[in-house]
Amino acid sequence: MKVKPVCVSKKPIGIIGAMAVEVEALIAGMEGVCVEEAAGLAFHRGTLEGVPCVVAECGPGKVNAAVCAQTMLLRYEPRLIINVGVAGGVGSQVHIGDLVVAAACVQYDFDTTAMGDPLGTVFIRRASGDNEDVRLLPCCEEAAAVLLGEARSIYGGAHFGVVCTGDTFVADPEKNRFLDEAFQAQAVEMEGGAIAQVCYMGQVPCAVLRAISDCANDESPMDFPAFTKVAAEKSSQLLKAAIGKL
Ligand code: SAH
Repeated sequence: MKVKPVCVSKKPIGIIGAMAVEVEALIAGMEGVCVEEAAGLAFHRGTLEGVPCVVAECGPGKVNAAVCAQTMLLRYEPRLIINVGVAGGVGSQVHIGDLVVAAACVQYDFDTTAMGDPLGTVFIRRASGDNEDVRLLPCCEEAAAVLLGEARSIYGGAHFGVVCTGDTFVADPEKNRFLDEAFQAQAVEMEGGAIAQVCYMGQVPCAVLRAISDCANDESPMDFPAFTKVAAEKSSQLLKAAIGKL
């Protein structure tokens, strides 16, 4: 009998979560896993629901997320990178336990407004000289549609819109209102916009899927530890159900 190689050669889907709780159910559900270390991070390569995948825990924040995404991109050439996990809800319509799929991400703390640039504009350099200023970092429409469709059939739906990313755990109703007004955001977290920028620069499609662990308000310091596990499981379950269609 021919033995299948453990590390499959087909281009994988990359999956990044900031915290262990956001990726552990996915890693546990993988088959034929081999673990490789790069940039000090562990990359779990194998199949999930029969789909070649590489899964990593990047650590919280934009720099960790960018290092992980860029390393994944150079080393594994993923055909899509998906950022999964938990986030703070923004606005009055998004509640703990809800799912959010990003249409686009914005690095809301990238601030050169003093020079007249809109808040959240990032400056992309290209060897060709074809530089670009981008505020809304796009996410893959097809992947988002698959995640939304699966969320509809399993959980009755998900919010779809802007996800705000910055290096702050937001626990402030005023900041929440600001993110709602400035970006019509649905969620705030600390990695999606960094991964979306790496993917945009590397011309690899990306998706951001988050379950709400807290509402980015005064209650967040209590709600985050209370609801993160359940929310993280929800986002991994949805991704597991959708991955065969991505
Ligand atoms: N010491 C903590 C740090 C977690 S930071 C730990 O590692 O356990 C919060 C994480 O959850 C980030 O990865 C972020 O993406 C997400 N998150 C959840 N709620 C958030 C909020 N209200 N504001 C910003 N990020 C939030």
